[in-house]
Amino acid sequence: MTFSCMTLRTGSSSKQSIKTLLKQYAYQEIRLPIVEKTELFKRSIGDNTDIVSKEMYSFDDRNETSLTLRPEGTAGCVRAGIEHGLFHNQTQRLWYIGPMFRHERPQKGRQRQFHQIGVEAFGFNGPDIDAEQILMCARLWKTLNLTDIRLEINSLGTSESRANYRKVLVDYFSSHKDQLDDDSLVRLEQNPLRILDSKNPAMQTLISASPTLDEYLDTESAEHFAGLKQILNGAGIEYKINPRLVRGLDYYGKTVFEWITDQLGAQGTVCAGGRYDGLVEHHGATATPAVGFAMGLERLLELTDFSQMPDTQSPHAYLLLSGDLAMARGMLLAEQLRDQLPGLRILSHCGGGSLKSQFKKADKSGAQLALVLGEDELAQNEMTIKFLRSDVPQTVVKWSEIADFLGSTLSIKANSNK
Ligand code: ATP
Ligand code: MG
Repeated sequence: MTFSCMTLRTGSSSKQSIKTLLKQYAYQEIRLPIVEKTELFKRSIGDNTDIVSKEMYSFDDRNETSLTLRPEGTAGCVRAGIEHGLFHNQTQRLWYIGPMFRHERPQKGRQRQFHQIGVEAFGFNGPDIDAEQILMCARLWKTLNLTDIRLEINSLGTSESRANYRKVLVDYFSSHKDQLDDDSLVRLEQNPLRILDSKNPAMQTLISASPTLDEYLDTESAEHFAGLKQILNGAGIEYKINPRLVRGLDYYGKTVFEWITDQLGAQGTVCAGGRYDGLVEHHGATATPAVGFAMGLERLLELTDFSQMPDTQSPHAYLLLSGDLAMARGMLLAEQLRDQLPGLRILSHCGGGSLKSQFKKADKSGAQLALVLGEDELAQNEMTIKFLRSDVPQTVVKWSEIADFLGSTLSIKANSNK
């Protein structure tokens, strides 16, 4: 099986940017199980979707209940929200992060275990929250310095408008049945709108000439869509209306959107979302409007230039220790520094070896400073400090002054309790 593997360093710095952003919008984290009952996904995502019909990892447990490794987060979020009364007389702004599993053909940007960060808001009817989530994405692209990424939006209307549109679409595709691939023939019977979501290049000409939904849009959805566009226009967010944009999951209505890049070849959708007002009620709870999106972390990492981002992973300082006495004392000094400067990332050398070999490791670690504690320094209650990334001459600092020195050199705040 090909599963994704992202380096912790790149993965965590972009995850950090996203988590900071989610806090800026006051969204709260929800931790969801990785395994749920298969029935949940069938009911939420829809039988005729790629996910349910061919991509799920399902198995029976000891009670012969069919379970599935989650292929996406929305279904579990809705299930948890209903079970714990999160939608009762209150609104929710939630986010989650974690691995998702789909049995797809592995290729660049498409893994069988990949990671999503998803956002879901419950209890909001208006287009303001749809816009908030789009603005959130736009802010994230800015933070990550991503410029080649564009927004496409559409409205899928209410189920009534989709039903009217569905008839026209069935007529159109039925009259071109000879040009439909096997998947589309099945979809024509079961869920014709999803033909528009086909990834088959051979189908694209036929799809691009198909009738669009906008003519069948109900007044309420049209007003909602106009409201969304108005906020996006006011915020200076560029977008393209793609009247054939549908989502691969069945439960979407009204707003749908995708953020797409040309830099990732065929797997260009980095983030996708929309409104799913009917899903909570579909699971037997009081009707609750909802809107959300999910972004693929591997695709996002592929796009991000980490050299442009602040390094929040490398140690600030690498502590070199020469001799047994220095080792014991150095460990304690490092502990004191962690007390005094909680923001300091200090890596104490372990495993002995010559100072020369320790310097090599210090350099490789990405640390800005080497703190050297050898016999001479030990005898004088001092450390030698070398600047590894600049020409500043080395200096010697008393132990009692090291915290102040590091605090001001590295701009790290001291712990006021110490
Ligand atoms: P696609 O059209 O690329 O198959 P999708 O419509 O199936 O995507 P969603 O279910 O909306 O995707 O998932 C949201 C995002 O998760 C996608 O835009 C993409 O960035 C990411 N994603 C989905 N499937 C995979 C996968 N197999 N590997 C890596 N990332 C994925
Ligand atoms: Mg897919």
